[in-house]
Amino acid sequence: MKTHVKALVVGGGAVGTSIAYHLARAGWEDVMLLERDELTSGSTWHAAGLLPYFNMSYATTHIHDYSIKFYKTLEEETGLNAGFSVVGNLRIAQTQARMDEYMVYATTAETCDVPYEWLSPAQIKERYPLVRSEDLVGAIYHPTDGYINPADVTMAMAKGARQRGVEIVRKWQADAYHWTGDHWDVTCTKMVEKGGNLVPSDEQIVIHAEHVVTATGNHPQRTANLLGIKIPAIPVEHQFIVTEPDPALVEWRKENGEHPVLRDADAKWYVREERGGWILGPYERNAPARFEYGVPDSFRADLFPLDLERIEEEYMSMIHRIPSSETVGLKDDFNGPICYTPDGNPLVGPAPGLRNMWLAEGFSFGITAAGGTGYYLAQMMVEGEAEIDMASLDPKRYGSWMTTEYAARKNEEAYEHVYILHHPDEERPACRPLRTAPAYDRQKALGAQFGCVNGWERPNYYGPLDAPETFDHDARSFRRGAWWQYAVEEAKAVREGVGLIDATAFTKHVVKGPGATQFLDWFTCNTLPKVGRINLTYALTDHGTTRTEYTIVRLGEDEYYLVSAGAWTAYDADYLRKAAADKAAEFGYIEIQDVTTQWGVFAIAGPKSRDVLNEIVKDADPALVLSNKRFPWLSMRDIELGMCPVRAIRVAYTGELGWELHHPIEMQTYLWDQLMAAGAKHDMKLVGARAQNWLRQEKSYRAFGNELGRDATPLEADLPRFIDLSKEFHGKAAMEKTGVRSKCCTVLIDGLADADPWGREALYYGETRVGRLTSGGYSVAFGKSIGMGYVTPDLAVPGTRLRVKMFDQFWDAEIVEDSPYDPKNEVIRKDG
Ligand SMILES: Cc1cc2nc3c(=O)[nH]c(=O)nc-3n(C[C@H](O)[C@H](O)[C@H](O)COP(=O)(O)OP(=O)(O)OC[C@H]3O[C@@H](n4cnc5c(N)ncnc54)[C@H](O)[C@@H]3O)c2cc1C
Repeated sequence: MKTHVKALVVGGGAVGTSIAYHLARAGWEDVMLLERDELTSGSTWHAAGLLPYFNMSYATTHIHDYSIKFYKTLEEETGLNAGFSVVGNLRIAQTQARMDEYMVYATTAETCDVPYEWLSPAQIKERYPLVRSEDLVGAIYHPTDGYINPADVTMAMAKGARQRGVEIVRKWQADAYHWTGDHWDVTCTKMVEKGGNLVPSDEQIVIHAEHVVTATGNHPQRTANLLGIKIPAIPVEHQFIVTEPDPALVEWRKENGEHPVLRDADAKWYVREERGGWILGPYERNAPARFEYGVPDSFRADLFPLDLERIEEEYMSMIHRIPSSETVGLKDDFNGPICYTPDGNPLVGPAPGLRNMWLAEGFSFGITAAGGTGYYLAQMMVEGEAEIDMASLDPKRYGSWMTTEYAARKNEEAYEHVYILHHPDEERPACRPLRTAPAYDRQKALGAQFGCVNGWERPNYYGPLDAPETFDHDARSFRRGAWWQYAVEEAKAVREGVGLIDATAFTKHVVKGPGATQFLDWFTCNTLPKVGRINLTYALTDHGTTRTEYTIVRLGEDEYYLVSAGAWTAYDADYLRKAAADKAAEFGYIEIQDVTTQWGVFAIAGPKSRDVLNEIVKDADPALVLSNKRFPWLSMRDIELGMCPVRAIRVAYTGELGWELHHPIEMQTYLWDQLMAAGAKHDMKLVGARAQNWLRQEKSYRAFGNELGRDATPLEADLPRFIDLSKEFHGKAAMEKTGVRSKCCTVLIDGLADADPWGREALYYGETRVGRLTSGGYSVAFGKSIGMGYVTPDLAVPGTRLRVKMFDQFWDAEIVEDSPYDPKNEVIRKDG
């Protein structure tokens, strides 16, 4: 057994094995895979092996796509048959809303080249006479996926890994991790059998590993404790049952092929054939979280007792859908731990605060995701970045505010929601409200319907004052939901009058100290602002793509206030801190403070915003304090609004005359009351995040996580005006070398009368797919749908006529000049 390795992968389930395989395939020698028991003895052995393509996320669809294609190649490489049955996957719809979901998904699938077909109820019946279809609206069919044997595919990957030089060590457990400043010393204990349990022996060794990956399945809480970090992955019970052979099915199979995997999402289950019978896998209500504080030694490749009562509803609905299954008995059952995270996506990427430590935890579709995770994580580790943006899977999307109780309850919710309609405007209810700014109660009393960003409650829109509790739930749709009209009114108010937006969730950092200026000059691509001024800028990855967007405010010669997206506080903090630590020796001491929770933010915007502020601003010369002369666009001033000291920043994400009012959080309700009283005189309207999202698209303002991410450079995002090519900065050479593979543009769309794009739709030029939308919405300025996205550079010119695929139809779109609303920034600079 080696004691010095380049990479130690901890955990021999499907995920860890794939990572070890792909690290070796990417060229790393000395890779070791460590497993405390036997390979596949975690969740992998009892998985049903389904490999569904269907996923609403672009990154995850790519991961699943890679797995499905990769698994098909394994037999040729290793000689081991992984038992891949390419039977296809039929998702049936009981309602039009479900068909809408499939159509929204289908256009995303097209952007990833995933094939699909539509089937009518009659076609379903014709192809699969055992399936009741008269009460269905239709179905989407994926011909290229199916199911696999989870243990066999893991063993095939293990063989492939060994062939590529990976050492696989079983019955050794990683028990302590120590970072020496250069590598990890991982203390490992030999595990022995004792009375059926697996227990640590006295035999230990220390493995010296340059990189460590944890893929510990149901053990993430133990891993988190050993690493001194938080990992919001906690398993939930998941069951499936296997029936005795169904005579009708046995008869059918004499002349016909196997049924595809059937998914009746409205009934919350999947069904597939198994030796003449059926496997039913429900995603039922009330499946409990398990192992919140760790897995007991006595739990090995074990299962929980079946809870048939919990899945009765789903069982009955299977009988309704496949009537022949009514008379067949149960043959087998599985109730095992399946790991979840609060949003259902796994946690893949660098661990918070640690060097060369990579997490691959929290997989609920781990058989489907293993191949792609191994591939893309190996790219991140070996090459520095993956070819797709892995941010939506990053372990740091949850901050230190996350607790065990939160993770457990949210994970139960994520499990239950697997088959609940995935409305893009969905806001899930569990564990809320949790992070509230002081004005929350006031906003709620005024009709705010909240969304949740990084745990913060943030108004999405303001609905009716007397709205029932279910208002927002009932307002959701794949088309224009009942909230849409409220957002239209709010967007109009900003364009025509004045609106007040709560932006408290913004991430805020202070960077200061003797090394701060040189550091930020290297860390970000735009020229640093002068004292009292602000700049929009980007921190790049090693590959020259966008890691973070910052509004930088220069408070002093060596003191800066950085504002970035609210969803990404821990993600941004980690990158900033690690980069500063790396550069302190070169540039001098750099202090980084995360001040997110110390500052509230209100954004006031609209032609009348200055009039509202003038009502309450205190200054020796109140008539001038907010004028262009004293307070020009893109500058910062400390002002006083009533008795509240405010760090006011003259920018507006809506593209109107406006200010961001950063204020001490403890004075928030005071400031709110002042603004509301002053605003009442000018018909100020409260505005939520949805209207703001539309308005920023009219100005072509890119959003992080949409247009901006680790798969495109700022040049590809078409932001040359924010890049100072005369200076050296991190990622510059890589950015220039990459060139422009595709380019960001804004489109106005002659679309449906009852729907707007969500920002995930395929873009066509004639019959050819040329790109995809990354944002979408409605433009009040132009009275039609709007979107932003990426197309091939030759087409990214104003006037190009494109087509957007929405709801299975093509809609005309035209690329417009950036910032179609107020292209010369006249209204934003208005004096007064
Ligand atoms: C009933 C059921 C049905 C399922 N069906 C499907 C399906 O159809 N399709 C699908 O995609 N997914 C399915 N899943 C989910 C799937 O099983 C998991 O997502 C997947 O197995 C996770 O793989 P993993 O490698 O992350 O974890 P695991 O398979 O649990 O492997 C983790 C390994 O790490 C080892 N380990 C932990 N700590 C240490 C340590 N300190 N040192 C050394 N080793 C350690 C463990 O012993 C274990 O072997 C199902 C799950 C259940 C419960």
